Amino acid sequence: MPLVTIKTGFRLPDGKEETLTQYLCDWPGCPNAAVHVLGSIRELRALAVVCEEHLPPRQRPKTR
Ligand SMILES: [Zn+2]
Repeated sequence: MPLVTIKTGFRLPDGKEETLTQYLCDWPGCPNAAVHVLGSIRELRALAVVCEEHLPPRQRPKTR
């Protein structure tokens, strides 16, 4: 999953530029920031993360 660093342009009190780091949705071509972790994919040894839009229905929290 691509990790993107966004520079906000704001200067922090210590003089550094503020940056936000977040993951992008794993859905091909989707530019949204990922908000859900689907879990680890053993074969890829990676985490699958998706945005709200691409969250598979099966992965939605179950109500008991
Ligand atoms: Zn997405």
